[in-house]
Amino acid sequence: MQRPITGFHLDEEQHWVAELACGHNQHVRHDPPWVSRPWVTTEVGRAGKLGARLECRKCDRGEPRDRDPVGG
Ligand SMILES: [Zn+2]
Repeated sequence: MQRPITGFHLDEEQHWVAELACGHNQHVRHDPPWVSRPWVTTEVGRAGKLGARLECRKCDRGEPRDRDPVGG
C-alpha cells in the first residue's frame, strides 16, 4: 500500500527512518553500493521527499502502528 512520508528521524544506528502517514516507520538507508539514496543524507533532500509515497508492507500485512499517525 502506498503511503506518503510525513517526516524522518535517525534510529539508534544512525540510519534514516521515514515516518509514514499510516503510523508505520520504514528505513530509508543510504548504504552504497547496495542501496543508494544520497538524498536522505541531506536536510534539503529529505525535505524534498516529504509527501512522496513509499510502499508500506506493514500496512499490507496489517501490522500495528509503530507510532501515532500525524493528525490523529
Ligand atoms: Zn503502513
